[in-house]
This record gives sequence, C-alpha cells and structure tokens, in this order.
Amino acid sequence: MSRESRYDLETTDRTQHDSTTPSRADGEGADSTVLELDGVVKEYAAETAVDSLSLSVREGELLTLLGPSGCGKTTTLRMMAGLERPDDGEVRLDGEVVADETDSVEPENRDVGLVFQDFALFPHLTVAENVAFGLTDADEKETERRVSELLDLVDLAGHRDATPDELSGGQQQRVALARSLAPEPEILLLDEPFSNLDVRLRVEMREEVRQILKEAGVTAVSVTHDQEEALSISDRVAVMCDGEMEQVGRPESVFEHPESRFVASFLGQAGFLSAWYEEDTVVTPIGNFAPQRLNGLTTEYAGTDLDVLVRPDDLRATVVDESEADGHIVHRQYTGPSFVYRVELDNGDLVHCQHNHVKELDIGKPVRVELDADHTLAWYPPEDGDEQVTDRVSSVRPR
Ligand code: ATP
Repeated sequence: MSRESRYDLETTDRTQHDSTTPSRADGEGADSTVLELDGVVKEYAAETAVDSLSLSVREGELLTLLGPSGCGKTTTLRMMAGLERPDDGEVRLDGEVVADETDSVEPENRDVGLVFQDFALFPHLTVAENVAFGLTDADEKETERRVSELLDLVDLAGHRDATPDELSGGQQQRVALARSLAPEPEILLLDEPFSNLDVRLRVEMREEVRQILKEAGVTAVSVTHDQEEALSISDRVAVMCDGEMEQVGRPESVFEHPESRFVASFLGQAGFLSAWYEEDTVVTPIGNFAPQRLNGLTTEYAGTDLDVLVRPDDLRATVVDESEADGHIVHRQYTGPSFVYRVELDNGDLVHCQHNHVKELDIGKPVRVELDADHTLAWYPPEDGDEQVTDRVSSVRPR
C-alpha cells in the first residue's frame, strides 16, 4: 500500500522548500547549511534503525526530529553527535565529513553541544562551576566573563553559587543549557529536553528554551515524540517514521499540508473524506466543494477518487432531522476548552468535529456536518488496493 501523497506525482514549490535532501535544499538553505546527513543508515543486529536518511540543518534554526517511539530519532541525533557511527552515508559538519561508514570523529572533537534528558549536571559543583566545566581553553578572566554572560542569558545570575539539588527542574535545565552553550558549539543537540519536567513546567520551559536558543543565535536540533512541543518551538519539523524521513518543513506547513497520511495522522486528529473529483466539483459525503479548496488540485486528477484531510477544527456538526443528516455522533470527548465529536458519516467515513465547550450534542444524534475551514485542504489519492476506501468513494461518486 502506498503511503505517498500527490506531492510525489508532481513538483510543487512547497515540496522544494521543504526538501529533506541537501541537493534539493532551497536557496536559503543551500548557503547556510551547518549540518548535513546524506543517506545515513544505522543497522542494529536485527533491524535497520535509520534508513537512507538525508537532512540539512540550516544556520540559526531550531529543527525538531519528531516521530513515534522507536522510529529512529535518538539514533539519528546520536549519529549527529558522534555517539554512533553510520553504517552507510555521510555526516557533514560545516561541509567537512565527520562520519561515514569507515570513520567517525569523536564527539569531543566535533563542535557540537549536547543537552541530555536528565540534564547530567555535576551534583558536587555549583551552578557557575557546572557552566564553566566545558571552557577548558579559556583563562580565568575569560571563563568568568563567559559564565556571567550565560547565567544572565538563562536568568540564573542570582543562583551562581547554588548546587543542582537546590534548584527546581526548570532551573536545572537552564543550567544544562548554559553549560552546553558555553563553548559556543557550532550546533546544539537536545535529546528529549523536556521529558523530565512535569506537564506545566514543560510548556513554560519550551518557550523559555526557544527564547534562549534564539538569543544565543545557536543552531539546534531537538528530539521529541510530542507533536505539540515540536510544532510550538521549532523553525522546522522533521517527521520520521520507521527510520525514514517522511516530511520536513515549517510547523504550519507540515500540519496543514502533510504529504502523507502518516504525517497527517501523527500531527493531531485526522479524518479523511472519501471524495470524487469531477471537472469543476469535488463531491464528498458532506457536500460538494470547489476544487480550489483543495491545495494544489489540478485537472490532471479530474475523474479520480481522492481522500480529503479534515481536522476537528475544520468541521462543525449540527443536529438535524434524520432525513437531512450526513451521519450520526458516535463518540464525544471532553478536552476542557472544547468537545470533540466523532461522527460516522452515512458512507462509513469517520470524522471529528470540534465545538466550543458550551455546545453539548448527544451520542446517537443525526447531524449535518459542514466544512468551516479558512485554509485549503490537503488530499491524497486513495491507497492502492484499499477496497474499503473504494467502497466508500463509490457511495459518493456520481453514477
Ligand atoms: P524513543 O522515542 O522511544 O526514544 P526513537 O525514535 O528515539 O524512540 P531509537 O532510540 O533511535 O528510536 O531506536 C530506533 C530503533 O533502533 C528501535 O527499534 C530500537 O529498539 C533500536 N535500537 C536503538 N538503539 C539500539 C541499540 N543500541 N541496540 C539495538 N537496537 C537499538
């Protein structure tokens, strides 16, 4: 079964902008690439953890590797750091090869900084001593100047003589960040930097960490499986699946225009409308749309089946008489600020509709579902051999 979207069938401006391969990087990226992975492979005994993965990291950006558990994010980060050697392909830092299948520059000889999940602070050293730890080449005066500068940057000047056990989780993280930034690395690598913080602090710290990285002007790569975190802090998000790169792009771009069903489904709730495209209309189980509402839809696809991506905030459900209904409410989820209703449409498609929390609709009610999106919608050709999709499309296709 193909997981690919129509972007594999046509060349669009956005596909080039969001390129994963160094050779296809856009103008902005081509000159300012700091780190490149070029066809890297990492195999463990029984499995390929990372498979022919290519990626360019641009100067000054915060790029996040995002994907489900076991998809190869940490292995990719470890190859960037020099903690793992690729079995094939190349890692280049500032244009210089630092690792290939025969050789790998040690982490300490690469110009990279690392922030670990558990922060790995030295418990017996003060905050200032922890930050100064990596400044081996600087004299005393220069070390003092740099430590003070960094403690100001992370807003911990008042805690310079404290030891890590006297600090909160968020403060410890800021010390870890300052320590990694101290030697002015070419690139900073952060491995699940927020996973050891409680939920509230996590949200607070991700804003703060982004601000610190931007103020320091450092290039950074972070790893997470939390899509909200990735979307909220990154300049670009690189979505991985089964050791491969699925899509790289700006957060809005990957969220609103996912290039595969996997990316669509991993980044928030995704529903798919089984649709049929005639020359000037897209026929769906919730009504007909103008083709312009579908991103990049060309007449080349006229006469074909499509799956149209709709997210909960794109749809609204209204309770109506059975005779006017598109489907029925089969599930209701309370999320605090809103209710999300799962609706089974008459043709069998499942979609979600998000409503303000004051609106409470009952399970089993017949509803009409309307499109309420102020952006173009992503779409996909049906997956090969998916009989169920074909059946669902048949029910909306004009005869
Ligand atoms: P998570 O979000 O759970 O940390 P991940 O996306 O970072 O997952 P990796 O840790 O990179 O994934 O692992 C990718 C695959 O490689 C997994 O199936 C894992 O079991 C395997 N793997 C990773 N490190 C090793 C190792 N040292 N030896 C054997 N297999 C490994």
